[in-house]
Amino acid sequence: MQQGKNVFKLKGKIQQYAWGGQTYLSKLLSVANPENKPFAEYWLGAHDNAPAELEGAEPAKLNEYVRLQPETSLGAAVAQRFGRLPYLLKILDVKDMLSIQVHPTKKNAELEFAMENEKGIALGAPHRNYKDDNHKPELMLALSDFWLLHGFKPEEELMHTLSTVPELRFLLPVFSMGGYKELYKEVMEMPQQEVNALLKPLLDRIIPLYQQKLLRKQDEDFWAARAALTYNEGDKIDRGIFSVYFFNLVNVHPGEAVFQDAGLPHAYLEGQNVEIMANSDNVLRGGLTPKHVDVPELLKHVRFEATHPHIIRENNTPGHIVIYKTPAPDFELSKINLQAGEIVTIQSHSVEIFLVLEGKVQVEDSNGFDRKAGDAFIAFDKAKISLRADQDTLLYRASVPKA
Ligand SMILES: [Zn+2]
Repeated sequence: MQQGKNVFKLKGKIQQYAWGGQTYLSKLLSVANPENKPFAEYWLGAHDNAPAELEGAEPAKLNEYVRLQPETSLGAAVAQRFGRLPYLLKILDVKDMLSIQVHPTKKNAELEFAMENEKGIALGAPHRNYKDDNHKPELMLALSDFWLLHGFKPEEELMHTLSTVPELRFLLPVFSMGGYKELYKEVMEMPQQEVNALLKPLLDRIIPLYQQKLLRKQDEDFWAARAALTYNEGDKIDRGIFSVYFFNLVNVHPGEAVFQDAGLPHAYLEGQNVEIMANSDNVLRGGLTPKHVDVPELLKHVRFEATHPHIIRENNTPGHIVIYKTPAPDFELSKINLQAGEIVTIQSHSVEIFLVLEGKVQVEDSNGFDRKAGDAFIAFDKAKISLRADQDTLLYRASVPKA
């Protein structure tokens, strides 16, 4: 353990999941991918499953380092409140759509995690729902044109969808009488045979259009057809396809961000983003996945209400740093834009992780180093650093909001 040194180069972990792309992260991080593996996510955090590594520190693993000296690394206030690095910073490259999911509140996560422990369900068991006792609010910032499903459509819009897609018209009375909850329950609890019978005519109609490239990404049919081609197994049709029509289909442009709190159903469909979230792995799934779907558990945590998508745009803060504000106490994401030759001085409050997306920067503290696109570094509590841009440079910073 070094006395005094509190700024380190940091190396994250590439996570391979089937839905990931092959080239984006390989290029950004300069990691060759000769076998074309799906490089889905890059994790910069202290999650025990894939901790980032500090260069020149002992221990090198960020989770172990923070555990050994919580107060000097996180600062006293954050160490006391969270007891660990509160956030996880990621870059995602979504080639195939991800499962529809919802995350629990902090209180529910604590209750349910304890309950599954009590029942003796192993942490790694495939039917285990709660991996930890934490909530998982998420903020995503688009790096490319990005598509996602985000919360239930407002009532009128959903009525419009259900009345214009002929194969879904049978759901109109369910929704107008029972609202979001009865509508969602209806399709999630439906026997598989019935799902197959109801969705087959829809897919028979839209899949040929998709294959002939006659559908646009603005149309739900495009994603429903793609979901069917990605996730249907044999003659089993994934019931998540209903949800493609229930949820807001949102297109986020580079530089724009979306926040998703507990209870809001969502699914990433395509694109690259920077994502920051509370340090948790608690995911309840609602289809578009070969993974475990626990319907009763899912229904307990979904908030059955309309969502009017709120796109967070850059506010024009004077200076070089743009902060994307959310209500989450666990994390804050900012973007730092420097022109060649510019210098900015930063006083680290708690623990801050920086990732360079473009350009090259000199990090100046007692022992300086440089960082180019794809490189990261970490500044622990009270570190004071200057960033001097060698070229026009873009960085993202993860930090803990001041209480
Ligand atoms: Zn999520």
